[in-house]
Amino acid sequence: MIRLHDTALGQVAELQLRDPGRVSMYVCGPTVYDVPHIGHGRFSLVFDVLRRYLEWTGLLVRYVSNITDVDDKIIARAAGDGRTMQDVAEEYEAAWYDAMKRLGVRRPDADPHATAYVDQMVELIAQLVERGAAYATPEGVYLSVDVVPDYGLLARQPLDSLRAGARVEVDEHKRSPLDFALWKLAKPGEPSWPSPWGAGRPGWHTECVVMSLDLLGDGFDLHGGGQDLAFPHHENERAQAVAVGRPFARRWAHNGFVEVGGEKMSKSLGNYTTLTDLLAAHDPRAYRLLVLRSHWRAPIEVNAASLAQADASLDTLDDFARRTSELPPAPADEAVLARFQARMDDNLDTPRALAELFDAVRAANRAMDGGDPAAAAPLAAAVAEMGTAVGLTLAAAEVAPPEISELVAERERARAAKDFAASDLLRDRLLASGWVVKDTSRGSRVHRRP
Ligand SMILES: [Zn+2]
Repeated sequence: MIRLHDTALGQVAELQLRDPGRVSMYVCGPTVYDVPHIGHGRFSLVFDVLRRYLEWTGLLVRYVSNITDVDDKIIARAAGDGRTMQDVAEEYEAAWYDAMKRLGVRRPDADPHATAYVDQMVELIAQLVERGAAYATPEGVYLSVDVVPDYGLLARQPLDSLRAGARVEVDEHKRSPLDFALWKLAKPGEPSWPSPWGAGRPGWHTECVVMSLDLLGDGFDLHGGGQDLAFPHHENERAQAVAVGRPFARRWAHNGFVEVGGEKMSKSLGNYTTLTDLLAAHDPRAYRLLVLRSHWRAPIEVNAASLAQADASLDTLDDFARRTSELPPAPADEAVLARFQARMDDNLDTPRALAELFDAVRAANRAMDGGDPAAAAPLAAAVAEMGTAVGLTLAAAEVAPPEISELVAERERARAAKDFAASDLLRDRLLASGWVVKDTSRGSRVHRRP
């Protein structure tokens, strides 16, 4: 079984499943008030890779990721644009799934929307109030963190330093600066739902605890998200579960930040780069490759140079896939797959797992160069398998139609005669027909323009 770093334990530990053979995982999804940025792309890719890999090893994965469609930021945007909250949320949810589709991130098995769960959230808050864990103020309802003995577990900092760092809240009725809103009473004109404490809306931390427990049940296996969600968001989800006496996530996984020029990616720092911009300029697989090349907990640097490097590696892989597509089918090399799996099981070490993949590519290319396709075939099959395990689709070989093959042959003849003007002209004609020609040590190869 895979070993993963667990934020609550502060160390790598084996994933122990609640139900043998089945993995239940919840990953915090987007608040839909703007287009996704590249930080969103990273967490989506990290957990998509984990999900695919676990399935590849034969486990049955139930993957839940929410859509937060009620939130202060959505309300502010709707007010600013003179639109309804629902209208704003629908637009940016569509933008979200569009970007995810292009990244090759699979849809969750369930994507609960916060607005569909308000009744259950009110129910949880009522239970917390009844147990004396939460209290109402003129602003809303708050959880008293004092009822959670190990509060701060996911922050991995002493409670005093958390208290000192807590924002000065506008609500002076809070008993402790760390207490957080479960229910926010609506101001005039804001969207609201009825509750025993007055019309209002749920707090963000209440949304995820309710939806994850409803869809995955008590003691589900893994809760994930970006590192910035560990505290306070995930800690506050956990605090509510503890306060109401329900077993919550067994393991916590938090991926590292995306850095641009050495700083954390965020809108407030002004280095905001949207996924849409990235996907317009690069093969979407380049970002997946970049994410795979870094350890999931380490920060990654996304810039023109790192993306160009990823684009070049993809070219190598695509060329390899095309070159080996004519090999007879063979079972994948078991030793290669075993090494790959050992890397992945060791805290999802994708950089070293990818190194196994590239080693196999080199070994297969050497075998092909040496005229030994029988040795290359199992390696090529292993490369395809490893690609599947991490969601990396390599170029499918496509047989060029006769008129294209004829142009390629004509160009080869021009090159042989050192008539480079004619050769360039033929290259342009091929490109205009949608085919890219590449000159390799083994002759010219052609593939459809991506
Ligand atoms: Zn969440």
